[in-house]
Amino acid sequence: MHQGTKAVEERLDRFVRDRLNPAIYVDRIPLTVQAWQAPREPVPFSHAIGQVFEDVSLGWRFGRAWSTIWLKVSGVVPDSWNASEQKSLAAEILIDFGYNTSRSGFQAEALAYDLSGKPIKAISPKNSWLPWDYSNKQIEFYLEVAANPDVAGEYSFEPTVFGDWDTAPETALYELKTLHLGRRNTEVWELVQDIWTLRGLMTSLPEQSTRRHELTRAIEDMLDAMNPSDVASTAGKARQLLKPALSSPANASSHRIIATGHAHIDSAWLWPIRETVRKCARTFSNVLSLMEDHEEFVFSASSAQHYKWIKDNYPSVFAGIQKRVETGQWKPVGGMWVECDGNMPGSEAMVRQFVYGQKFFRENFGLESKEAWLPDSFGYSGSLPQIVTQSGITSFLSQKMSWNQVNKMPHHTFWWEGIDGTRVFTHFPPADTYISELSGEELAHAESNFSEKGRSSISLVPFGWGDGGGGPTREMIAAAYRTRNLEGSPKVTMGSADEFFQQAFSEYKNPPVWRGEMYLELHRGVLTSQRRTKLGNRRNESLLREAELWASYATVKLGLEYPRAQLEAIWESILLMQFHDILPGTAIAWVYKEVENRHAEITVELEEIISDSIHALANQSKSSNGTIAMHANARPTINQGVLAFGIAEATETKSETSFSQQGEAAILDNGILRMSIDKAGRITSLVSLKNNREAIPSGLAANEFQIHDDNPTRWDAWDIDEHYRNSKEVLDQVEVFELKRGTSGEAVVETERHITSPGRPKSTIRQTIALYPGSSEIDIRIDIDWHESEKFLKLAFPIDIHAEEVAAETQFGFVRRPTHVNTSWDFARFESCQHKYLYMEEQNWGIAFANDSTYGFDVQRSTESNGATVTNLRFSLLRATRFPDPEADQGEHTMKFKIRPSATIQDAVNLGYELNFPAREVKGSNPVEPLVTCSSAQVIIESVKLAEDESGDLIVRLYEATGGRADCRLSMAAKAEKIYLTNFLEQPTDSPPVAGDSGIDLQLRPFQVLTVRVAGLKF
Ligand SMILES: [Zn+2]
Repeated sequence: MHQGTKAVEERLDRFVRDRLNPAIYVDRIPLTVQAWQAPREPVPFSHAIGQVFEDVSLGWRFGRAWSTIWLKVSGVVPDSWNASEQKSLAAEILIDFGYNTSRSGFQAEALAYDLSGKPIKAISPKNSWLPWDYSNKQIEFYLEVAANPDVAGEYSFEPTVFGDWDTAPETALYELKTLHLGRRNTEVWELVQDIWTLRGLMTSLPEQSTRRHELTRAIEDMLDAMNPSDVASTAGKARQLLKPALSSPANASSHRIIATGHAHIDSAWLWPIRETVRKCARTFSNVLSLMEDHEEFVFSASSAQHYKWIKDNYPSVFAGIQKRVETGQWKPVGGMWVECDGNMPGSEAMVRQFVYGQKFFRENFGLESKEAWLPDSFGYSGSLPQIVTQSGITSFLSQKMSWNQVNKMPHHTFWWEGIDGTRVFTHFPPADTYISELSGEELAHAESNFSEKGRSSISLVPFGWGDGGGGPTREMIAAAYRTRNLEGSPKVTMGSADEFFQQAFSEYKNPPVWRGEMYLELHRGVLTSQRRTKLGNRRNESLLREAELWASYATVKLGLEYPRAQLEAIWESILLMQFHDILPGTAIAWVYKEVENRHAEITVELEEIISDSIHALANQSKSSNGTIAMHANARPTINQGVLAFGIAEATETKSETSFSQQGEAAILDNGILRMSIDKAGRITSLVSLKNNREAIPSGLAANEFQIHDDNPTRWDAWDIDEHYRNSKEVLDQVEVFELKRGTSGEAVVETERHITSPGRPKSTIRQTIALYPGSSEIDIRIDIDWHESEKFLKLAFPIDIHAEEVAAETQFGFVRRPTHVNTSWDFARFESCQHKYLYMEEQNWGIAFANDSTYGFDVQRSTESNGATVTNLRFSLLRATRFPDPEADQGEHTMKFKIRPSATIQDAVNLGYELNFPAREVKGSNPVEPLVTCSSAQVIIESVKLAEDESGDLIVRLYEATGGRADCRLSMAAKAEKIYLTNFLEQPTDSPPVAGDSGIDLQLRPFQVLTVRVAGLKF
């Protein structure tokens, strides 16, 4: 037989486009429309409907970028429309704002309200209709239209003016093309769905397969049977002809898929935070509307913050969600405040994502999530298995690792083992998407791509429009019904992630294990982009630690009111700003303007809480004032004689660091370290005098500014492409070089250098290198006025050390990363993440680097002619990408480093805290002993706070920081009624409590985190 299958496919596509799709809607009647333009920012329904609306007609152009237009729509259902026809000819409102229909969530969107202000359903390019009941003769409703610009377009990554209200043009972006009442021929619509599923299945099957040919012939017969001029009358017959193809059952061994409805909603990205509030309202209204017609449909949505926005602004939608959560159809997943970045949030912040997420779910839905849900974050730290497990979570879902540039992750379902050894059952949907349409192609890919075949037979597919929200559509649900049991397709069941994990876990006897971090081999620039946001994040994380520590102490000791609501609101804001397109620096300009302001406001609030608390403690009351100048020490180490977590007079050092000019070099010497700095401001020698060990390789220089061209092929703010290294300029010319004495006896070298790039204002780099008397480390401060474009600035430290790997801090511990590129996995990690410190060592000697806001670094080995191994560490200081924020990182930046040679990993841990917790001065009348102390230096108290349940109990979170075992006694400044261990949610574990004591003895495994709850502390 002659085949001609391609010809049938092409014939089908034309038929669907020209005959079937236009036949879905009949009897279109234009509706009457009036419009009111909101002045700038969105307003509530009650405010909008009181305004004066003006008549507009079809063809009206409207909507400057980011503006809001309210439409009042009215009309009448014709008397000729008979209620008995409702089922076969469903009344619907059809809307088109002149957007392109390639995808949902990135252009104009609207929310429809009934006259009482209750949201009905949303309108977006792929979901542009509203249901209407025949019996509701008088049509009247409102549409709140958000004229959101399509910022990314076709992802050509050109600089855009649309990323901020103030830079966007006034031009109208949209057109009122359609606002009609129409009737949907449900038989034609169902036929379109039949064809869509079969067409997708057909082309996903091998060309030689019998099933593929059967489908081709069934479609051919269907086409032959239809009357192209009267589709409606022949649609029923066509469906009958396709029925055998659709009812042939799936193979016994076919892959099984649990399809869970989902809408990935980026908490901010190519839109500001305020727009996400409305995106949530629109998406969730869609889902509730869909649930009315489809009982089997299950929807999973993460992010307590999103639910809170709905609770605060759309109470009827929230009530609808609560009702569906109760019936099990709506699943709050993830247990987090937002889907945050997976690498950069600090230890306690990552915990609080879950503490506040699970708390919101518990209080509002009566449940805690069982699965972590981070499909889109850019890599996952090795601390997450322990953090999620201690937060009541038993499984982990991601998808992003399928974006790896170089290596394919070997597993889709596996145990993920964290740095401390905790394992969590993990799944990456093999469909490689969290925005599935349940197309034949996606379903087939899920099966063919699935690595666990033969041992496991099931995977999860999240379906529904996402990134910009939108969620599932009735077409996707139609596809799910049709693929329940369909020959050639995986078997699709709608369900929850929890059901998936239970089934996957029970059938997979011995899943493979992936140990350590999951490094995303892409988006490596996110550790550096939008640096001011990263600095604000680090600063406020540190201030929160201090504020909670001192405020808790002032409350338990002096009875001061704990600023609980204020602290919780601050945490919620910080956690939101750690969202996976905010902290990474990949959102539009508007977002960073807002985030930098929020960070600044939070700093002021936290400084006030800290100041009030330490003042009260140092004076034993809120109102009295002492005169002794003291230091409040929030570090885990003694600082100038002041104990960790104590307040006391600091012991002053009267000595001075000596300095001299020897030829062209400045020599700084404090008896512990001796350093030479050349005329270009580079460190050419750094000697630890106690063992006479030189840190800088002979002939090389550290503290060297290097600048690269930074032109990633795609994803500008996200990506650093490996080829950036091929262009390097060393900034070795200084305009100012000054060697001088500082105010505390330190010797200081100050330099200033400039960068002059064609067509750009001059950039200025000022640097201070200081060596304090009695100090084992050097202090570096850099102030940069940055005006470069598409450049990448690094600060290089070649170190004379034979180090196979470096230890980079992550939450509650560190990750070791190779300094070489033996494997493709090593090669792909050419830019990595650190938190407060980085450490490298060889036998008997190591060197520690601490930073206050630098997350990105790279490290490479080289061998000198004399055979010495040099470990080249480079910190990533600044980028200047042009998409999505064309002015990213322009302007002032400040950054600090500390470098301690002859250091241990313990020194590195301490150094990180020492840089991030500078001494805080307070005038008082008496010293204050620490509220809590820990007897082991290895064990760091990360957080001291009051319990979330308002019981007044004290919560102390501590962890083993050096990768070893530790016994310690945690002691309180007073006796407690009961001391016991809890999980992160502050719920007791089964270890026995201690009663009537002022301390508890603890044993910690490497990197283990413990939470201690102290009840009834009596001063
Ligand atoms: Zn995302």
